[in-house]
Amino acid sequence: MTDSAFQRYRIEPGSVVSLSEIDPRDGVAFEGDKDDGRKALKAVNRRFEELQELMFAEGRRRLLVVLQATDTGGKDGTIRQVFDGVNPQGVKVASFKRPTSAELAHDYLWRVHPGVPGNGEIVIFNRSHYEDVLVVRVHDLVPEERWSRRYRHINEFERMLADEGTTILKFFLHISKDEQKERLQARLDNPAKHWKFSLGDLAEREHWDDYQAAFEAMLTETSTDWAPWYVVPADRKWYRDLMIGSILANTLESFDMQFPPNEDDLTGVVVE
Ligand code: AMP
Ligand code: MG
Repeated sequence: MTDSAFQRYRIEPGSVVSLSEIDPRDGVAFEGDKDDGRKALKAVNRRFEELQELMFAEGRRRLLVVLQATDTGGKDGTIRQVFDGVNPQGVKVASFKRPTSAELAHDYLWRVHPGVPGNGEIVIFNRSHYEDVLVVRVHDLVPEERWSRRYRHINEFERMLADEGTTILKFFLHISKDEQKERLQARLDNPAKHWKFSLGDLAEREHWDDYQAAFEAMLTETSTDWAPWYVVPADRKWYRDLMIGSILANTLESFDMQFPPNEDDLTGVVVE
């Protein structure tokens, strides 16, 4: 795997995204099958674990990882697989559900800002402020003249976070409509998966095309140099995990971090 392979999935700021031109089963960035891919992920996990420990120890960097996808797109599975083994002290997940009445009584970024990472932390947004240009747009929850201005707000908000020292990576998990059908059916067929099934997901599926259009607008309007989007082929879970894990590990590597020295001089110190 090479860095240039990852660049394949990065949305160049200013480009117009057409999801129908991106194959959800693309596999160009890794030569090998599922078994090879899962093995490669293990190695990436171990590398990531060490780098995250270093990041936590150093306490200087902040990393925000945004995950967006359609229902069953694999956000939960990605978090489980990619963050396997990391030190929970330095990693948090913030999930964004339907806003509460208190949240709805404020601007849409009000609930988001307290969740961003502090020094040494990685925060994963499982859904995010982007819901406010996705579900909100598809269901006309606010008028177009309001949601259409939000792309600009979001870019400026993320620019502020980046200016103040937060690295931002955004992943859109790209699955096909057929794959969603299979995943919904699998949830229905397995009682242990019923808790993940919602009749609402079937209603949302009827808006598939509107969602694809909303995702395309999001990717087109908000992939920036300071907070780029990656569209990750996600029909194959192992490939999705390997790509995201590798991009994260490479990002931490690029931080070029150092374990902090002890504040005391430890030369000659003996443990009796
Ligand atoms: P889940 O992630 O499956 O638990 O579902 C969370 C639900 O909350 C999804 O249906 C989202 O579309 C919905 N949701 C998240 N953020 C918002 C928002 N800002 N406005 C309306 N619905 C939202
Ligand atoms: Mg759901």
